[in-house]
Amino acid sequence: MSALLEVRGLRLEFNTAGRSIEVLRGVDLTLERGGSLALVGESGSGKSVTAQSLLRLLDEPPARITAGSIHIAGRCVSEGPACVANAVRGSVAGMVFQDPQSALHPCTRIGAALAAVVRQHRHCTWREAEQRSLELLMEVGLDAPQRRVEQWPHQLSGGLRQRVAIAMALAGDPQLLIADEPTTALDATVQARVLGLLSRLRAQRGLALLLITHDLGVVAAAADEMAVMYAGRIVEQGPVREVLAQPLHPYSQALRQALPRTDALPRCAPVSLRGLPPLPEHLPTGCAFHPRCSHALPACALEVPALVARNAQHSVACPLEGQGA
Ligand code: SF4
Repeated sequence: MSALLEVRGLRLEFNTAGRSIEVLRGVDLTLERGGSLALVGESGSGKSVTAQSLLRLLDEPPARITAGSIHIAGRCVSEGPACVANAVRGSVAGMVFQDPQSALHPCTRIGAALAAVVRQHRHCTWREAEQRSLELLMEVGLDAPQRRVEQWPHQLSGGLRQRVAIAMALAGDPQLLIADEPTTALDATVQARVLGLLSRLRAQRGLALLLITHDLGVVAAAADEMAVMYAGRIVEQGPVREVLAQPLHPYSQALRQALPRTDALPRCAPVSLRGLPPLPEHLPTGCAFHPRCSHALPACALEVPALVARNAQHSVACPLEGQGA
């Protein structure tokens, strides 16, 4: 059986003011049914653009897929008009955003908003949709759902709003949940609860999870596989435990140092992360990381390193792999 999500050689550009700026430069991702994959990187690395392009959520134009393919549950969503992704959105793949407010209209009560989403996916009466909404709110752990459905979004805390947004994403019974920085706006305690909820939903529903985050602590808590993204490309990919224990790419090594030291993870040699990520319109030649890399050689500025398998599960795009570890 094919993977639930298969992205091959995805290239995407934005056309603005007569200029074409490439922001995704050949992204490959695979997520098996029921699996979990974290896409990690700094702001501007292209991880959120990747997530949104999977469901064709970017305005086209200015966005345009120029090469590669996206298949979700065997259906190609990268070809043809953006509306072809509508059949997949919600019913096969649900999306949760960083700001749950974006999924909730401030002038619509929680119950009505959720029932409307249920009716987008089911042929049912309003009464049946309201009953299903209560079930979904209970499933995501909201207390007193009969009272919650009468409330307005502003009456809920950030953590509760995020639970409602997750309930909306589940309304179509998707096989895949794409969560774009779902805990970034939450404090540490609420963040842990939301991550626990995602793990429980994965186990109970057999959901696959694509998690977008800049936080390796979140990755360690919620994902089995991870892909590190830099300047629109995947630079390292593998099992979370293996990549965190022995990151091979100098960029991954620098990110890894942001994690608090634990007995479970070996120490890494110090790696400095100089400067800022490059803008897509001013990418360095060769390896885009070379101006910030403490291991860079003159040859690094000449050629873009390919993602090469280190073993059956772990790949890295740096010929000097592991030198700083
Ligand atoms: Fe650093 Fe060169 Fe490897 Fe790029 S290819 S990460 S610049 S050592």
